[in-house]
Order: sequence, then C-alpha cells, then structure tokens
Amino acid sequence: ATPTAVMVATGVGANNGVLIKGGDALERAQKISHVIFDKTGTLTQGKAKVTTVKIFNEMDRGDFLTLVASAEASSEHPLAKAILEYARHFHFFDEPSNASEFQTCSEQAKFSGWLHDVSDFSVLPGKGIQCSIDGTWILVGNRKLLIENGITVPSNIENFVVELEESARTGILVAQDNIVIGALGIADPLKREAAVVIEGLVKMGVKPIMVTGDNWRTARAVAKEVGIQDVRAEVLPAGKAEVIRSFQKGGSVVAMVGDGINDSPALAAADVGMAIGAGTDIAIEAAEYVLMRSNLEDVIIAIDLSRKTFARIR
Ligand code: ADP
Ligand code: MG
Repeated sequence: ATPTAVMVATGVGANNGVLIKGGDALERAQKISHVIFDKTGTLTQGKAKVTTVKIFNEMDRGDFLTLVASAEASSEHPLAKAILEYARHFHFFDEPSNASEFQTCSEQAKFSGWLHDVSDFSVLPGKGIQCSIDGTWILVGNRKLLIENGITVPSNIENFVVELEESARTGILVAQDNIVIGALGIADPLKREAAVVIEGLVKMGVKPIMVTGDNWRTARAVAKEVGIQDVRAEVLPAGKAEVIRSFQKGGSVVAMVGDGINDSPALAAADVGMAIGAGTDIAIEAAEYVLMRSNLEDVIIAIDLSRKTFARIR
C-alpha cells in the first residue's frame, strides 16, 4: 500500500473510533489468525453487580456487608466496586435494586464514615485481598486465596459457590479468623454485541479465545454464552502474556483485546494489541489499537480495514 493508502485507512479508522498507532500496526492486523479476548470489561460490560449474599454464621446482613465493604474499600478491582456499591445501597435503602441512582457526594461521604478502620491491607493479584479489622484477619477472594492460606472451605459452602459459578457468576468467599463466614455472587453481563462479533470473526477465519483470571466454571459458562470454544481460566496476571507467546510459537499471528492493568503485558506481547477505550490508561499505552467506542465490533472493523488496505499489493 502507498503511504497515501495507509493515511486514508488510518483516517477511516479514526472516523470509526479506531485509533491506530502507526502503519506497521495497520499492516500486521491483516494477518491476524487468533484473537485473544480478556473476559472482564472486554467481553463483559465491566459493570459487575452483586446478585447473591449468603452468610454462614449468625452475623446480621448489614454488619456482614459493612465488614466486606470495609475490607474492599482500598481495592480498585471492579469486584470490589460492586461490593461497595451494594453495601452502600443496602446501608441507606435496605433495598439495593436501583444502585445506579445512588451517587450523591454527601451520601458517599456518610458511607465512608460508616466503614470500619482497616489495617495491613494488601492485594493478592488474581486472588483477592486481605486486611485486619477490629483485630480480626479478613480474607475476601476466590477459593485459591483461602486454600493457600490454609482455610478449609466446607462442602456446603463449596457447593454454593459451584452453583453460582455454573450460572456465569463469580463466587467470592469471605473468611474471618480462618473461618468462612459468607459468600457473594457477582454477575457481569456480556456486552450486547459480543456474541455477534465472535460469530463474525469465525466467519472471517479468525479463531477467538478467551483468557481470564476468573475461575474455570464461570469462565466456561461465559464462554459458552458468547460462543467461544477455547478458554484459558485461572490465569494469573503474569500468565496472560505467556498464553499469547504459546500461540505465537505455533506460528499464529495473535491479537489481544483487553482493558485492564492485568492485560498490559499481554497487549505488548501480542502481534497486535487492541485496548478497550474505556479501559485503564496502562492498557491503552501498551496497545497499538485503541477501540474508542469500547465496542467489540471495532475488532472486526480493524481487521477488515487492514485486509482491504493491503489487499491490492499482495
Ligand atoms: P480478570 O482476568 O477477569 O480481570 P483478575 O485477575 O483481576 O481477573 O481476578 C481474578 C479473580 O481473583 C477474580 O475473579 C476474583 O475471584 C479474585 N479477585 C481479584 N481481586 C479481587 C478483589 N478485590 N476482591 C475479591 N476477589 C478478587
Ligand atoms: Mg478486564
């Protein structure tokens, strides 16, 4: 393609909200054979909502939610935000059905004052968080987090979490002083266009794959809903780039689509990194394509544009 053709294509991309950082990236996109999608915030809306709260001891529901929200208050994770939103709404309205209407600053401030003091907070990437509250040790996260800390998950609780996961929800466990005291189910709906885009890619001869830090059951349930057959789950943040490299070793030209800090090493490792515009700045910096509309249809537009631009000189 001539420099003019590349310029025109870049302009067409920009008009569709597809920002392309340079002619090399535009050229590589025509050869994409595999597209690896992050799950949370990429295939899903990234608007996680608590759907289930289960308490396994005598604790009052409000007290339980205050405890978990306090523990998660310093976390930036979408799951933490969902838990805080739910707890805040429960606290003020006892009825967390229209949480989005609940946004005023004064209520936010009141809510913060009502949380417990937290010390020794730390994030365990891909697993959850830990901290201490009122002299007790709190863990909030997946079963891997609890098991690694030597906490036994009783079979009735395990069964409860399995049931959540099979219905495409993420199951989060809460432990206080080595005892599992509760569980939360969190749902994050698929983007409306997700399934159509996956079907479109397959028709173009491109293979879609899903990669996520979430557990296998939830991952499989979501993949099934969206129509992806190849899933890699329970991948720790550092592992996403490894997944990309394993495909590249087999000779594939790999695109990675992601939104999170977790995804940035994979976006950099991919032949073509595509960041969701609504994602984190770090992901946007690591990628060569930025999908400004955060719409997955733009993955198809990007590949199509590259194929059309370079078709004539092949
Ligand atoms: P993803 O690849 O889907 O963005 P992450 O690697 O961020 O996932 O997290 C993987 C899993 O770790 C989550 O599904 C959840 O079980 C657990 N987790 C991570 N952060 C938190 C948190 N702040 N609170 C509770 N659980 C968490
Ligand atoms: Mg994500």
